[in-house]
Amino acid sequence: MSARLAGKTIVITGASSGIGKATAIEFARTSPDNLKLVLTARRIDTLKEIAAEIEAFAKGVKVLPVKLDVSRPEEVSGFVEGLPQEWRSVDVLVNNAGLVKGMAQAPDIKPEDIDIMFSTNVTGLINMTQAILPIFKKRPDGGAGDIINIGSIAGREPYQGGSIYCATKAAIRSFTDALRRELISTRIRIMEIDPGQVETEFSVVRFYGDAEKARKVYEGVQPLTPEDIAEVVVFAAGRRENVVLADTLVFPNHQA
Ligand code: NDP
Repeated sequence: MSARLAGKTIVITGASSGIGKATAIEFARTSPDNLKLVLTARRIDTLKEIAAEIEAFAKGVKVLPVKLDVSRPEEVSGFVEGLPQEWRSVDVLVNNAGLVKGMAQAPDIKPEDIDIMFSTNVTGLINMTQAILPIFKKRPDGGAGDIINIGSIAGREPYQGGSIYCATKAAIRSFTDALRRELISTRIRIMEIDPGQVETEFSVVRFYGDAEKARKVYEGVQPLTPEDIAEVVVFAAGRRENVVLADTLVFPNHQA
């Protein structure tokens, strides 16, 4: 349990499944003292169920489910103002929403799949960052707060058939690194956690819902669980202010 997180307000994008959901549960499990969790995604009914699940076991935690499509700039720009006043003083943003769509060789990738991957994984993450940073900057000494971006091993080691997804994750990496340098004289921490293979809905989405194809991806590897990544995210947020997990790769043993 990290005392540092007591009373904090934490926003998680893509909290309706996988890593985002597990991260919400891990924050609540380990830091129950007056924690406020803002859970965002497109599937609001799922978020409401997760919120009820968390509030049932973590009595000191308040959860606010918010419908938010990060790929829509107009939704992101109105996000903070749309929060009730007592939820606006955000301390931690976990930029987790992301997807891979249509594994294909580069010449065959559909324009709409390119658009959705960039507008969600890259522009969505940048827009969320721009929406939250003004809150951080109002705090003393140039500002304070944490942004934790979920990248991917794909941003470091591109693979055949995943060129666009890999490019989006490489873009996150560059953006994160530049932003951290821009804010180096403040108390704002910019961090990136890059998962390897994690078994979530992600693997099925990438094959347009074909579960059989999705299963084949994990042949020979025991993938991580979403909880494995959630533990690292919460660990990063819970470190004392001078400690930054700037660039952390977490992958299963045996992943090539
Ligand atoms: P899931 O598919 O389980 O979760 C993705 C989440 O993102 C969902 O909650 C989904 O919610 C949300 N999301 C997707 N599009 C949008 C959007 N436009 N606006 C808001 N929310 C959106 O996958 P993971 O948990 O695995 O993925 C989480 C992150 O981890 C992603 O950034 C992914 O790239 C990254 N990652 C995953 C790896 C893996 O092997 N699973 C490996 C490396 C990185 P909803 O549909 O309700 O909007």
